[in-house]
Amino acid sequence: MKTAIIGAGLAGLSCAVTLEKHGHTADIFEHQNEIGFRYEIAQLITPILHAPVNDSVKFFSETYDIHLKPTSNVQKIYVHSENESAYVEGNIGFINMRGEYEESYEKQLAQQLVHSKIHYGNHATHEDISKEYTHVVLATGDPQATQQIQTYDIALASAFAGAIVKGDFVRNEVHTWFNNDFAPKGMGYLLPHSKTEATLVIVYPQYEDDWLQKRNEFWKEMVKQASRTLNQEITIEKEFTIADYMVGKCYYPRIGNTFFVGNCFGATTPFLGFGQTGSILSGIYAAQDICGLGNYEELCKPLYKDYDDSLVLRRAIEGLSNHQMDLVIKSLHNSMVRKMVTEPNMSVLKGLSHLLKPFTSK
Ligand SMILES: Cc1cc2nc3c(=O)[nH]c(=O)nc-3n(C[C@H](O)[C@H](O)[C@H](O)COP(=O)(O)OP(=O)(O)OC[C@H]3O[C@@H](n4cnc5c(N)ncnc54)[C@H](O)[C@@H]3O)c2cc1C
Repeated sequence: MKTAIIGAGLAGLSCAVTLEKHGHTADIFEHQNEIGFRYEIAQLITPILHAPVNDSVKFFSETYDIHLKPTSNVQKIYVHSENESAYVEGNIGFINMRGEYEESYEKQLAQQLVHSKIHYGNHATHEDISKEYTHVVLATGDPQATQQIQTYDIALASAFAGAIVKGDFVRNEVHTWFNNDFAPKGMGYLLPHSKTEATLVIVYPQYEDDWLQKRNEFWKEMVKQASRTLNQEITIEKEFTIADYMVGKCYYPRIGNTFFVGNCFGATTPFLGFGQTGSILSGIYAAQDICGLGNYEELCKPLYKDYDDSLVLRRAIEGLSNHQMDLVIKSLHNSMVRKMVTEPNMSVLKGLSHLLKPFTSK
């Protein structure tokens, strides 16, 4: 058996680490010259989107022997709308670094590899690789690679603007903004890396032609809002923009001996555009199947369910005006409602669906 993994991102590396744990090695092809997501930013892993995974660090460590050290655990999440603010406390999730940061999750995964070789600077195509290998894991993080082979249903294409910012932050407190004025049908968020540095982002679907043209305007407003909310002047260090970021899912998780993992599978959940948990899980599941320890299609079923539930929630939230969003946020002041959203034994997605129901049913 000869396995190739195309892409040394979260999904590809989780696959490689799991293969090694079961006595197999893989050749990993990475088109950059070193490990790392294209953007040097912080990201959030939250149980909100994966109900059974309340503590992702513990879960990956105890269940799959994959050890990841986040930058911080999040104890409080603020939700801001045009005129309201509320917060939810508890174990909200973890912040971790991506990209070239030494402690990025992809670098941590690569350090857990012993035998598998990463071939850097190697832009691989499925067509070439599949000639030489018995098993191919497509992990390029890019749905277009999947689309060359099979159907990939696109739910939305998103635009991002973001930056590393400097200021005075509380490490385990995250801020989110839901305001159609500067993140139409999307959101803004601030994830601290430390007491002085954070990632600030807006992300929204590119539904209207002029929303992409107005991105700069939206972004400036986000920075202003963040400074206002946090009552300080936030300064920008390193900006980035992304357009046409596809969120969708493939039709078949596996075709022959090709496995579609991470974003090539459809690991990014449409509600908030988060996909780290699904990417790592899909990589692990593909490895388990290759090692004869499971059936990839079966193992992926909960990921498809998460995706579908999250898409329902996205469509619901997209229908809300700023005024309705104010009312939703206001309802979070009620401790019963807050409990419903953070109840550890309940699907938080379900909790949020209940919360949005009065505002979305006609
Ligand atoms: C700005 C932004 C913010 C985000 N924030 C969050 C968040 O807070 N929480 C969250 O859970 N998710 C977040 N996501 C989503 C998350 O980043 C992705 O779901 C996840 O990285 C997908 O993992 P992957 O392994 O599929 O792809 P990636 O991690 O992107 O890895 C793909 C790898 O394949 C390589 N590659 C590509 N093409 C080739 C090729 N042809 N040959 C060889 N190598 C190739 C790339 O260089 C890269 O190293 C965010 C995404 C973006 C863009």
